[in-house]
Amino acid sequence: MINEHRVLNPATEELVATVPATTAAEVGAAVTRAATAQRTWAALAPADRARLLRRFAVLVDGHAERLARLEVTEAGHTLGNARWEAANVRDLLDYAAGGVERLTGRQIPVPGGVDLTFLEPLGVVGVIAPWNFPMPVAAWGAAPALAAGNAVLLKPAETTPLTALHLARLALDAGLPEHLFQVLPGAGDVAGAALVEHPGVAKIVFTGSTRVGKQIMARCADRVKRLTLELGGKSPNIVFADADIEAAAAAAPMSFLDNAGQDCCARTRILVQRSAYDRFLELLVPAVASVVVGDPSDEKTQMGPLISLAQLERVRGFVPDGADGIRGSSPTGPGFWFPPTVLTGIAPDAPVATEEVFGPVAVVLPFEDEGDAVRLANATEYGLAGSIWTRDVGRALRVSQAVRAGNLSVNSHSAVRYWTPFGGYAQSGLGRELGPDALTAFTETKNVFIGTEA
Ligand code: NAD
Repeated sequence: MINEHRVLNPATEELVATVPATTAAEVGAAVTRAATAQRTWAALAPADRARLLRRFAVLVDGHAERLARLEVTEAGHTLGNARWEAANVRDLLDYAAGGVERLTGRQIPVPGGVDLTFLEPLGVVGVIAPWNFPMPVAAWGAAPALAAGNAVLLKPAETTPLTALHLARLALDAGLPEHLFQVLPGAGDVAGAALVEHPGVAKIVFTGSTRVGKQIMARCADRVKRLTLELGGKSPNIVFADADIEAAAAAAPMSFLDNAGQDCCARTRILVQRSAYDRFLELLVPAVASVVVGDPSDEKTQMGPLISLAQLERVRGFVPDGADGIRGSSPTGPGFWFPPTVLTGIAPDAPVATEEVFGPVAVVLPFEDEGDAVRLANATEYGLAGSIWTRDVGRALRVSQAVRAGNLSVNSHSAVRYWTPFGGYAQSGLGRELGPDALTAFTETKNVFIGTEA
């Protein structure tokens, strides 16, 4: 069994840290401690829980630069992105803190008495995070779960445990009860699996591959364990001929190159109406070439390396030899670099056009009309995100309603905002995170009827 994980800087391949791997027995002990801490936490007055979460947010804000630099070092994120990510953790904590005192049940009119609902915490929640957005994804689960009165055990990805460990220290410094928010670095099939199997863990929030998500769903079924899944995507970017083609072409590169394409919402299927196809490609060539790829700690860099050698090999495996298209440049030498790549002339059912590559690779496919665009957009087992570029408001709404995906944007590539619900259709996931209902996903609803006619 692996008893420690080596954390490498993906831009240089240098060793950054070694982190002990949590064993299944240690996960069990952590669950027991978390259950005790959860009872203390849930017994606090809501205003006090909110105050402590706000204090946690203030500490994250104070450590934002440190957290961002850690993310650059362990995940190869660009400094700009990493700063946004640290700020996102702060905002998620603040937003969740605002919900603690507003987590109200309902009073429902019924004959013969009074009916009340209570939103009770689940207990101990396990959050299993991926390496592609280590900090935000951890906080998407942890912040609302804590706010709803739960304890959280966070299992970060093997390659990116450092920001999570730092956040756990800040939680303690903020005054959250000891063991309420614990980070358990380790292997997915050991520490992650132990969280999934443990009867003391009431809910799992998993973000990662669809393959592992399905395994976890099957294991949770044995105990009817609550589950939220955020899985893969193969999101379309639909460009109609009536769109502002200049704007659509200018925005397209970063819609799949951000985070070197390691983004479940990456718009990797660029669908362009045939009458605008040539013009769009002509504009896309300089737009791709202008993306700055290189040292992620340089403020001007827009795209950094892939996370690991394994990911680099996986991405390479998707790109057919001699395929036509547009290629940007990337550094040579150490680091897990892959250049921005847009492929043309690819069959719509080729693996690179249907599977989640999780690298800086997109395909451009032509379509004839609105019906054809919707058919192509929906020709996937996923349904996470998508973009629609058009100047026709009616078409924007029609197509938004017809595309089966959880997060769409019109004339924009925005997908994730902490104020709004996020999650996938079909094999992109189960349940929703973020938004006004985020806390409710970490509660059980209890209904109590009080007879008044005795
Ligand atoms: P993964 O699904 O294996 O890992 C995600 C998390 O789950 C990690 O913390 C991992 O340790 C944990 N895990 C793995 N096996 C587990 C198990 N049996 N029980 C409990 N937890 C387990 O993802 P990966 O191998 O790091 O990446 C592979 C591919 O997955 C990528 O190339 C990409 O296509 C996809 N991916 C998608 C997302 C996303 O946000 N949709 C995130 C990461 C990876």
